[in-house]
Amino acid sequence: MDKQPIDSDIISYDYIIAGAGCAGLSLLYHFIHTPLLAEKSILVIDQNLNKSNDRTWCFWESETGLFEDLVKNSWGKIAVLAPSFQKELSTAPFTYKMIQGLDYYEYIQTKARQFKNISWLQTKIFSIQDASNGAIVSYEGGKAHAAKIFSSILPFQMHDLTSANKFPLPPAYQTPFLWQHFKGKVLKFEKSVFKPNIARLMDFNVPQKEATAFMYMLPLNEKEALVEYTLFSETILAETEYDAIIAAYVTKHYPDAEYTTLHEEMGAIPMTQFNFSISSKNIFPIGALGAAVKASTGYAFHFIQLQSKQIVKQLVSNKAISTKVHTTRHQFYDAVLLYILQERKMPGAVIFKKIFEKNEAATVFKFLSNTSTFWEDIQIMKSLPTNVFLPAALHVLLRR
Ligand SMILES: Cc1cc2nc3c(=O)[nH]c(=O)nc-3n(C[C@H](O)[C@H](O)[C@H](O)COP(=O)(O)OP(=O)(O)OC[C@H]3O[C@@H](n4cnc5c(N)ncnc54)[C@H](O)[C@@H]3O)c2cc1C
Repeated sequence: MDKQPIDSDIISYDYIIAGAGCAGLSLLYHFIHTPLLAEKSILVIDQNLNKSNDRTWCFWESETGLFEDLVKNSWGKIAVLAPSFQKELSTAPFTYKMIQGLDYYEYIQTKARQFKNISWLQTKIFSIQDASNGAIVSYEGGKAHAAKIFSSILPFQMHDLTSANKFPLPPAYQTPFLWQHFKGKVLKFEKSVFKPNIARLMDFNVPQKEATAFMYMLPLNEKEALVEYTLFSETILAETEYDAIIAAYVTKHYPDAEYTTLHEEMGAIPMTQFNFSISSKNIFPIGALGAAVKASTGYAFHFIQLQSKQIVKQLVSNKAISTKVHTTRHQFYDAVLLYILQERKMPGAVIFKKIFEKNEAATVFKFLSNTSTFWEDIQIMKSLPTNVFLPAALHVLLRR
């Protein structure tokens, strides 16, 4: 990136957080809870600081988490369904938890706004460039300088299907790239229809659309649930297609039951190891921009927390900043699975069915959070056909 001189009328901060979504606010949360950093001058910039409830985050953990008070619902059991397959699994020792985006944004903003050393700016960022002794962010209305800038500004908006649809995918030979795209609705039924303690993680008994497609259904109580039609594919659908499939699913499972829609969310999460941005001396990509998304699943919330803690630890100990959160070994597995899904070497429905059929949920969760042991990895791999996975693994190895 180009070096820029610092202009005398540009205000300089210790840190700028560019983008106050999940990653930006998570980092800020860890800053204000770290004595050595809590008094640094920080500028937070986002084009929209008045957030809406644009997403829900689910993740699993085995302990009481930092954001336990915000947990809207949690489940101790999951269900996985596929044609002629149905299994309920206990998640112990993990609990599957849900936090609503708006609760998270408001909780951290309210805490951080009590700090006089933190400034807030609602404006659109145009660019971020290295400069002498730091970096400069250019935004609508001016520029600001900081010793270090942490950015989560992607070239598209993940909660806006149209915006993601316009993003040119990198060539597949360079790296696999699938969207995890979905539309979800919180439905409220007039009578009790759900088992509130079981999260339906994946139900593959839905139109596959030449992709990997499933219904994700999280009951909030006996009458309300988030019902989300999710696909892993290169092509984002027209919004009406998700609507039609959700409506058909609900009619199939709860015929004649009356319901209303309380809330809707949609998203397109990049499933890839493509680098949207790389760190420079004083500019550090975080969140989805900083490869926090797990490429094979689209889960990011847990990894964003890890990334924030890691950055804070490095700043406190004056170490070089690395935003890498995925182990090389698990990145390799992700690349293999992504390649198989993108090249349609085996239907995703069959892969996930086999994994959940032969393993406990805890082993799968550990594998997906990069904390599995090599022995546990072997257990997962043994569930899958060698004639598909071995050639794919070799292909990925040779491509590297
Ligand atoms: C609907 C939805 C549901 C999801 N559910 C889960 C889940 O259940 N579990 C999970 O682990 N992950 C989930 N994810 C994936 C991931 O956790 C989230 O997308 C997460 O919000 C990523 O954090 P981020 O900070 O990288 O991006 P964001 O949270 O999108 O933050 C980016 C910020 O940058 C701002 N911005 C963008 N461009 C500009 C600009 N030019 N100038 C100024 N500001 C700008 C935006 O306003 C936004 O506030 C979900 C994603 C979506 C979209």
